[in-house]
Amino acid sequence: MKKKLAVARLWYEGNSFSPIATDLDIFKAREWVEGDAAVPLYRDTATEMGAVVAFADSHPEWEVTFLRCAAAPPGGPVTDSAFAAIRGDMLDGLQRQKWDAVYLSLHGAMITCGNPTPELDLLQDVRAIIGKTPLAVTFDLHANLGAGMIELVDFAVGYKTYPHIDMDVVAARALDVLDNLAHGKVKPVGAIAKVPAIYTSFNMRTTDGPMAEIAKLAAHWRSEPGILEATVFGGFAYGDSPFAGPTAMVFADGDRMLAQRVAKTLAAEMAARQDRFELKLPSPAEAIATALATPGDKPAAITDPADNPLSGGIGDTPTLFRALLDAKPDAPCVFGFFWDPELVAEAQRAGIGATLDVAFGGRVTTSFGKPVRISAKVLALTDGKFRNVGPFEHNFAVDVGNTAMFEVEGIKVIVTSSCQTPNDPAYFTLHGIDLAQVGLLCVKAKNHFRAGFTPLTRAIIECDAPGPAGVSLAHYNFKHAPATLHRR
Ligand SMILES: [Zn+2]
Repeated sequence: MKKKLAVARLWYEGNSFSPIATDLDIFKAREWVEGDAAVPLYRDTATEMGAVVAFADSHPEWEVTFLRCAAAPPGGPVTDSAFAAIRGDMLDGLQRQKWDAVYLSLHGAMITCGNPTPELDLLQDVRAIIGKTPLAVTFDLHANLGAGMIELVDFAVGYKTYPHIDMDVVAARALDVLDNLAHGKVKPVGAIAKVPAIYTSFNMRTTDGPMAEIAKLAAHWRSEPGILEATVFGGFAYGDSPFAGPTAMVFADGDRMLAQRVAKTLAAEMAARQDRFELKLPSPAEAIATALATPGDKPAAITDPADNPLSGGIGDTPTLFRALLDAKPDAPCVFGFFWDPELVAEAQRAGIGATLDVAFGGRVTTSFGKPVRISAKVLALTDGKFRNVGPFEHNFAVDVGNTAMFEVEGIKVIVTSSCQTPNDPAYFTLHGIDLAQVGLLCVKAKNHFRAGFTPLTRAIIECDAPGPAGVSLAHYNFKHAPATLHRR
């Protein structure tokens, strides 16, 4: 008789400092599937669920059932009703029959409006239903993990790369160990060790720098006898949780003391590199001055990562724009962007050439700065549709909704109907902007922006401005993460 494997997924990275909650519709729009419909969606993708489909194809002795699979882009806390609905679907599925093994694809840095550790609750519920059935879980490299979570699972593994290009590899590893567990071939015992500080991810790439060194050390331990798995998680700085901060997680075959010892060693190596994970960035005014003083024909770019939508930004913080107005640069300037669907609609009604009294930013919240009230001329209106021409998600069809471009004191300002990072040159071409003619390009973006714009710019300078995902943790009012982790 075939063995039965249940699979479910809840993948979400929550920014506690974003004022916009994430509801069920946002999951339904991004990734929401269960049952056989999951197979064509995930087959041949470099994702956890792609690895599940490959496992099912290559292991006919297992019958694989997809329960609720849900994922959404990073954003504010998940509404408690959305979490309850997803959890309910998963638990109903698990209750339906007896399983021989269960695999969960989680993120590890999810938060809800009312619960800073929902994944701990979910794992407790799952364990209560499945009893001693083997349970394996995968986590994102930015997971915020607590010891209580790891005690509930038989095996866990996390991404080893950032940018994350090994999602399928880690899921394949989890499924392999689960297969061995179900056949009584291994006895994984896990341990974690925490690093006593929250790190931001600005300098957390695994291609170079301190995290690359840590990843190499973890790889060394994985090759040692008796070690089944070793992952070092950087954590997600803006997920305010009692489990915040980096984590070393190790699974050994039957030897808990060994797992504990190696986890402590890796956490100590991470802690020893703390100062290299902490960056100091210039203020917007300093970044503008440096950009303007940098010689070259191509534009200089300033990124405001604190309001990057892919980190939970809201397209709404005004500080960099205000600094640009104050600087009065003697060069053609472009600002991308503010998220304001009503202002776009007003510009459409008024038409190209009209002058409007507008308020840029501070619309969603004034906690990161008050709106900039100013008179602006409508320069262009678009449907917000283009295809990426740069290397990041190359040739992907993007739709940011209707947009309007304004002119304010010589600065071209793009306003959009949806909140998406301007990561591709085609975003600007859509608005009739010839980047070769731009002197200073200011964007709400972070690392992915560099892929398309490094060849087109003379410099890319990050600045430190208030926003939901900034470099200075002192700006944030943590309620759940212990003060010793972020006050320094
Ligand atoms: Zn991540």
